[in-house]
Amino acid sequence: MDKLKNNWFSESCEMWPGATFSLEVKEVLHGEQSQFQKVQVFDTKSFGRVLVLDGIIQCTQKDEFSYQEMISFLPLCCHKNPEKVLIVGGGDGGVAREVAKHPKVKEIVQVEIDEKVIEVSKKYLPFMAVGFDSPKLTLHVGDGFAFLKNHKQEFDVIITDSSDPVGPAVSLFEENYFSLMKAALKPNGIVCSQAGTIWYDLDLVTSTLRYCKNQFAAATYAYTSVPSYPSGQIGFVIGSLDKDIKFDTPQLVFSREDEKAMNLRYYNSDIHKAAFVLPTHVKYQLA
Ligand code: SAM
Repeated sequence: MDKLKNNWFSESCEMWPGATFSLEVKEVLHGEQSQFQKVQVFDTKSFGRVLVLDGIIQCTQKDEFSYQEMISFLPLCCHKNPEKVLIVGGGDGGVAREVAKHPKVKEIVQVEIDEKVIEVSKKYLPFMAVGFDSPKLTLHVGDGFAFLKNHKQEFDVIITDSSDPVGPAVSLFEENYFSLMKAALKPNGIVCSQAGTIWYDLDLVTSTLRYCKNQFAAATYAYTSVPSYPSGQIGFVIGSLDKDIKFDTPQLVFSREDEKAMNLRYYNSDIHKAAFVLPTHVKYQLA
């Protein structure tokens, strides 16, 4: 299928057959085939700059903060002292930008497989790639799965900001990956992984959560709304080594002054609690 036609980009994928989301493109800013995937950047009429990998929207200027803040602050605020954080994927820099804001985070390690995504994001998405400028961050280019094999009991929180389970990201949705993350965590460590939408991918959400539950003392699913993602909803599987954790109770509550100083536009402690409340059919499917 021609995904860019008459200045309209249409996203389509076998993961959501028979449905598409389209954006009117003002300008094609970039397009190339990297070693791992096709990397494109568009300037669009209604969503601003858009990063597309292998035909799938990764982030847009209009709504990226909802995703980046929630995948970062949900696990960080579930942890009492998230000093050292690993980010897997996240080549646009948005998650690093958010994690660096948390007052207790001292050190961030990030491993992204595709240096072209980092390069292109620095050039065209500086409002996200600003995350790479944090003095807390050490950035590696490589496969997150392979990286984890060499790291044991090192991190308080691991955030997997992965693309969907096609191409290089397939291994990040397997049970072995949750087992490797478990081994790389310090006691009471927490993981948070991009885990798809309940509307198109409930089977994927169910299997990802099951893998997490098999490896972790406690695990759950939380979600946020991102209009440019398929169905406008995306969720995260969150697991903890602490069996007594209360996921919906943030350990750190930010005041309005904190929210403003940290430029939090989506995350707050009320939405933290609400993110774990699931619709009936999902609640019982995932139980
Ligand atoms: N927020 C986006 C979403 O939910 O679709 C994800 C954005 S971020 C750009 C995803 C990144 O994961 C990509 O840059 C991709 O190269 C990276 N990635 C995919 N598989 C990976 C792997 N095995 N190890 C490290 N990074 C990986």
